[in-house]
Amino acid sequence: MTVLTLKQKLAILSDAAKYDASCASSGTSKRDSSNGRGVGSTEGMGICHAYAPDGRCISLLKILLTNFCVYDCAYCVNRVTSNTPRARFTVQEVVDLTLGFYKRNYIEGLFLSSGIIRSPDYTMEEMVRVAQSLRLDHDFRGYIHLKVIPEAAPDLVNKAALYADRVSINIELPRDESLTALAPEKSAQGIRKAMGSVRLGIDQAADTAAKARPPSFAPAGQSTQMIVGADAATDGEILGRSDRLYGAYGLRRVYYSAYSPIPDTTSRLPPMRPPLMREHRLYQADWLMRFYGFERIEIAADNEDLDLAIDPKLAWALKNRGQFPVDLNRADRERMLRVPGLGVKSVDKMIEVRRYKRLVLEDVKRLARGLAKVKPFIVTQDWRPGALTDQADLRATLTPPQQPSLF
Ligand code: SF4
Repeated sequence: MTVLTLKQKLAILSDAAKYDASCASSGTSKRDSSNGRGVGSTEGMGICHAYAPDGRCISLLKILLTNFCVYDCAYCVNRVTSNTPRARFTVQEVVDLTLGFYKRNYIEGLFLSSGIIRSPDYTMEEMVRVAQSLRLDHDFRGYIHLKVIPEAAPDLVNKAALYADRVSINIELPRDESLTALAPEKSAQGIRKAMGSVRLGIDQAADTAAKARPPSFAPAGQSTQMIVGADAATDGEILGRSDRLYGAYGLRRVYYSAYSPIPDTTSRLPPMRPPLMREHRLYQADWLMRFYGFERIEIAADNEDLDLAIDPKLAWALKNRGQFPVDLNRADRERMLRVPGLGVKSVDKMIEVRRYKRLVLEDVKRLARGLAKVKPFIVTQDWRPGALTDQADLRATLTPPQQPSLF
C-alpha cells in the first residue's frame, strides 16, 4: 500500500470535505489568548468569515479525519463502493495541522468531519480525541466545529459538544423515504433523536448558566445540512422540513447544498446538479422565515418550487399586490419588512429616521440602496405608486436580465 505524505493526505481530505456546507462559525462564546495564555481566539482577528464563490466557508481548516467509509450512501463520493483515492489522518496529525495553520494565521479554527471507520462509536471517539487534545493539551481557544455521527453513543455526542463550539448532524435529504432508499445504514429517526439530545444538552447548559459556570455545551449551537436536488422533494417540502427542524431542535442554521453528481452511482440519482440559483433561493426563503416573519406556507406550498427568476419576497409581493402599497411613514415594522428590496437594517434605520422627520423617496433611496424594486410597493411623503403596483408587466420590469449561458 502506498504511504501518503501529510501533504497528499491534506489534498485528499480537504477536497473530500468540500461537500459539507454546514461550517459557518457565528454565535459562539468569546475566548481569546491576548493575555498570553492559550492559543487562538474566537474574537477580533481570530474569526473572520470568508466564503468561496460557491458560498462555502473557507476560514476554517475544513477536513475529514478520513474518507474511508463503511457506509454506502449513494449520493456520497466517499461511500464504501466508490473508487475514490482514500486517506486517513491520525489524531495527532489533525491536532498538529490545526495548531500549525492557526499559528501561521491561515485559519481561525477547525471543521472536522469523517467517514465512518469501523463503527460510529470508534469514529466519534477519534474525533472527540482531536477536540479534547486541542482544548486540554494545547489550551486551544479557537473555533471547533465537529460533525456528529448520529449513530454514535449519546455520551460520545455529549463529549463532542463539550469541546466543540458548534456541532452539526446532517439531516441529509428532505424526505425520510429518500434517505432509506439512498443511505441504507442511516435512519431519519436516529438523526432526529441525536439532534434532540444535543438540543437537550444546550438547553440544560443555558438553564444552569445563571446559577454556576457550567461546562460549555456547543455554545454556537447546532446546525445541519440538507442535500438539494438528489431526490424529487419540492422547495416547499424542503422549507417545511427546515421549518420543523428550527422549531423542534432549535437549530442555528440549515444549510442547503446542491447535489453534485458523482461517478458510478445509482441511476436513481439525477445525472445533473440542480441550478445553483435553487440553493440561493432556498437560502433567501429560509432567511424570510427566520428574520422577516414569513410563514413557510406563504413562501411555497408543499407542491411548489421557488421561482428561480426572482427572489421569494418579490414573488410573494407580486402574488399579494392587495397588501401594497405600504406607507413607510405609518406602517409597523412587520409590514415594512414585507416590502421587496427592504432589508432588516434598512427598515430599522427608517423607523429611527421617521421619529424626527417624514420619510421621502430620497431617504428610501439612501437607506435601501436602490429604488427600482421598492418604488411600486411603497408610499412616502412625496411618492405614491398609483397604478404601478397593479401594472400587468410589473414582474417583467423587476426581473433581472438573465445572463446567457456560455455553454
Ligand atoms: S456516512 Fe454516508 S455521507 Fe457520510 S461519508 Fe460515509 S458514505 Fe458519505
